[in-house]
Amino acid sequence: MTVGGQDKGKSKARQSQDSNPNGAEVTRPPRHLADLPLAERRAAVTELGEKPFRADQLSRHYFARYTDAAEDMTDLPAGVRAALADELLPRLLTSERELTCDNGATRKMLWRLYDGALVESVLMKYPDRVTMCVSSQAGCGMGCPFCATGQAGLTRNLSTAEIVAQVVAGERALAANSRPGAARNERVSNIVFMGMGEPLANYKNLIGAIHRLSDPVPAGLGISQRSLTVSTVGLVPAIRRLTQERLTARLAVSLHAPDDEARDELVPVNRRWKIAEVLDAAWDYAASTGRRVSIEYALIRDINDQPWRADLLGSLLAGHLAHVNLIPLNPTPGSKWTASRPGAGEEFVRRVASHGVPVTVRDTRGREIDGACGQLAATVTGRSVGPARRTGTHLLPLV
Ligand code: SAH
Ligand code: SF4
Repeated sequence: MTVGGQDKGKSKARQSQDSNPNGAEVTRPPRHLADLPLAERRAAVTELGEKPFRADQLSRHYFARYTDAAEDMTDLPAGVRAALADELLPRLLTSERELTCDNGATRKMLWRLYDGALVESVLMKYPDRVTMCVSSQAGCGMGCPFCATGQAGLTRNLSTAEIVAQVVAGERALAANSRPGAARNERVSNIVFMGMGEPLANYKNLIGAIHRLSDPVPAGLGISQRSLTVSTVGLVPAIRRLTQERLTARLAVSLHAPDDEARDELVPVNRRWKIAEVLDAAWDYAASTGRRVSIEYALIRDINDQPWRADLLGSLLAGHLAHVNLIPLNPTPGSKWTASRPGAGEEFVRRVASHGVPVTVRDTRGREIDGACGQLAATVTGRSVGPARRTGTHLLPLV
């Protein structure tokens, strides 16, 4: 089985006119059925000279059995299995490295894409749920100085199928490790777009992925849309567009400061869209979905963790459908910033809560395996030569 398993050697890059920020032309990943809605898969199968229902069969193999290996598809005529799998189920992810901790409850996967780009995902098992943190881009162009993924810049957007394949690989890993005789396999129940990249900067492919992840089999994986969380740095027009999609996914806004002066530095895109505009768009999203917006806030010593900032944050959010998720900063090597002093976090929580705003401190599972997205990629590419060049430090969410 593939996404990380055997080498099918059938990746066919598509040519495209896309270019990365350096102006270099990039190819696109090969077409995969997870890029397409079911009707388009049926059309693609018809073009290949087969009956449309073959698309449904292929889709069931991928979305319900998590396989893309032709030999597993015994309900398809032997003569067409390989050709169809070749055309519509090309291998997108190759396992580069895998690390586990917490007695196997946290598993970090590093994937190599068809063009050599590396992305990461993390699978976290809790007693009552399984959460997967996925990447939406290789790298990120937003340049937040505390985030090492941002330091390395953007390589490219992931395709819809490359995003979905990370979750299919997670499902496959869970199925493979399920206890013999267990009544039901464990399944991925929650997905957070908090891996590498800014999901709203890859809008079209993100929306495709949300549909593929939440549409019922055979159209998709059938994971409740309410259990998906899109985390954004605050791209206002994209948040507004997302509101129009009438989804039920949760929105997380990485705020990190209650005042524009600090946020301009911590989140450079704030120079374009100020806090008031970002929150305005977030409240409209909350009103339209009825879902509480998660406000992400990495506590950085003496930069954004002062009591007065906690009070300002509390008063900004009071009365709104919001929840604050405080994250102890995971410092990037060489960074001038570090996590808050002991006690500062507790004081921050107390002050925010005193405004009637729900607040929790985020789980930091997986730190000992570079559980933070981006770090493992840096180890493999050797980008860690200069400490400040090491990428990624995202923490694992408490979702
Ligand atoms: N680009 C999106 C989603 C990926 S980042 C966003 O920024 O929201 C996922 C989360 O990890 C964000 O809340 C981000 O601010 C946080 N993060 C990044 N680097 C971090 C670090 N060094 N310490 C703590 N949190 C970090
Ligand atoms: Fe990109 Fe998010 Fe990192 Fe900022 S915090 S650089 S938006 S991945």
